[in-house]
Amino acid sequence: MSGFVDKPEPVQVPGLEHLHTGKVRDLYRNGAGELVMVASDRISAYDWVLPTVIPDKGRVLTQLSVWWFDQLADLVPNHVISTEVPEGAPADWAGRTMVCRPLRMIPVECVARGYLTGSGLKEYERDRTVCGLALPDGLVDGSELPAPIFTPATKAEVGEHDENVSYEEVARLVGTETAAELRQTTIAVYSRAREVARDRGLILADTKFEFGTDPAAGEGAGERLVLADEVLTSDSSRYWPADQWSPGIPQPSFDKQIVRDWLTSPASGWDRAAEQPPPPLPLEVVERTRARYTEAYERLTGSPWH
Ligand code: ATP
Ligand code: MG
Repeated sequence: MSGFVDKPEPVQVPGLEHLHTGKVRDLYRNGAGELVMVASDRISAYDWVLPTVIPDKGRVLTQLSVWWFDQLADLVPNHVISTEVPEGAPADWAGRTMVCRPLRMIPVECVARGYLTGSGLKEYERDRTVCGLALPDGLVDGSELPAPIFTPATKAEVGEHDENVSYEEVARLVGTETAAELRQTTIAVYSRAREVARDRGLILADTKFEFGTDPAAGEGAGERLVLADEVLTSDSSRYWPADQWSPGIPQPSFDKQIVRDWLTSPASGWDRAAEQPPPPLPLEVVERTRARYTEAYERLTGSPWH
């Protein structure tokens, strides 16, 4: 079992049509047909949206995305129109709202990995490949790969795992031309972002992008990939402090590790295998997790969290 422990009722705003409640974000359409993405403070782990929120998380993730879209703007177009809060929406949407161009989304989770860990490591230990790509012997948890690799996945419904797929499968799904473009753009954007992160003392181990095409763009430009969704946040990426990098053991990361560790510790009393919903997080775990998110923001952008 998995999903939401308590599924929130969407906030109704006059003039906005509610489209979707995701694990973390709520999606609306405004009167101009634009997409309004509102990031919540919800947190998910082990395919569950937990019953406890992490204060400021929605604002941190939104502002980190916006910052990254700016850093990457010369490399790839993005879907952001503005960060204005729509009229009539709650004041607490400020800082966690992105008004976006509605795109035709390409149904592939475009993952780039420069280091081996997570689901990549599991596959590697089983058969020396990741998404069907052969890798050299002798790599361990946290090893740097000889070169960044494109390891796509197909998107799953809430409560399901995304599934790693081969490049050939992506080509079958979206066509060879688009598949090649997705791979090339994913690696290019990851490589740039990795340099930026490295300058700030962080390793960008892996990340996930989503792309779409703009049906409203003119002839010819219609097929150009546009970077969408959230980008390079601590929810969509693994960042590790470079000065603590030590392959062979799990790396301390800037994501939900604190939450995952607590949930699987005896202290939580949660039996993951027994299909029961996870319990609320203790305040101390909430505080440490919040600090981890704001620290990632501060280290990357160089600006104090506000
Ligand atoms: P999760 O990411 O937690 O697995 P989810 O994908 O269902 O869940 P969100 O990520 O919160 O939920 O929802 C964002 C949705 O909006 C995704 O389906 C994403 O593909 C889609 N999306 C992002 N940017 C755009 C865009 N510019 N146009 C159209 N759809 C978009
Ligand atoms: Mg999503």
